[in-house]
Amino acid sequence: MPAPKNGLLVKNLIPTAYNVYNARMTLINNLKKMLKVVPVHACGWCSEIHVGPVGHPFKSCKGPQTNIRKGLHEWTNAHVEDVLTPIEAYHLFDRLGKRIAHEERFSIPRIPAVIELCIQAGVEIPEFPTKRRRKPIIRIGRKEFIDADESDLPDKVPEDPLKPLLAEIPDSEVVAPLENEVIPLAEEALQAWERMRKAQNCGAHKHQKRNGQHGWQSAVLDDLIPPRYVWHIPDVNVPLERELRNF
Ligand SMILES: [Zn+2]
Ligand SMILES: [Zn+2]
Repeated sequence: MPAPKNGLLVKNLIPTAYNVYNARMTLINNLKKMLKVVPVHACGWCSEIHVGPVGHPFKSCKGPQTNIRKGLHEWTNAHVEDVLTPIEAYHLFDRLGKRIAHEERFSIPRIPAVIELCIQAGVEIPEFPTKRRRKPIIRIGRKEFIDADESDLPDKVPEDPLKPLLAEIPDSEVVAPLENEVIPLAEEALQAWERMRKAQNCGAHKHQKRNGQHGWQSAVLDDLIPPRYVWHIPDVNVPLERELRNF
């Protein structure tokens, strides 16, 4: 049985997991800074967002009481969570452990799903400990297994992270970037987005070659990091017209 199914980590995916973790932090931090200077609007009634000086005029709101607003969105300032939808998952101490029981659902911590993925792929985060086996599990039945005896191994020293983990900047400490900092921030954010998503695609491609699960894997990727689409504005100084949306 190969890793990760045998309880061990896929060694050559560990650096990828660290890159994904840090790419997510870079993306969040850069978005927070850019939101200080690039206006982004979020509808208070639905999940629509719009990037530009004013919200768009299209009557596409599907939120509650949309009839009263004649389908128009009601725009408020967007937060980073509106642009990068937070998806949470249970943090598992043992990824091969028993399924979460119904009564346990409030006692198991919930953390961002991408972070949980990174932890299970090998990122060490002291606040979120997880079981790291050093020998493959031993199957004793079709679905049952036991842990191998590791008592003959030398004591485990707590492992340092493979590379430094970036931290999220608290909202209160985010400062607006200077004019000449905006473009580099934006470019770095785009690269981080690509890195965060492509890194996981690599893993998915491996699966595809092994057992034809690619379709399922890419669905999971979008579930973890939902893409958000907005109208692209050719010229921010020209307001969008309602009639433009005729297709
Ligand atoms: Zn709306
Ligand atoms: Zn593919």
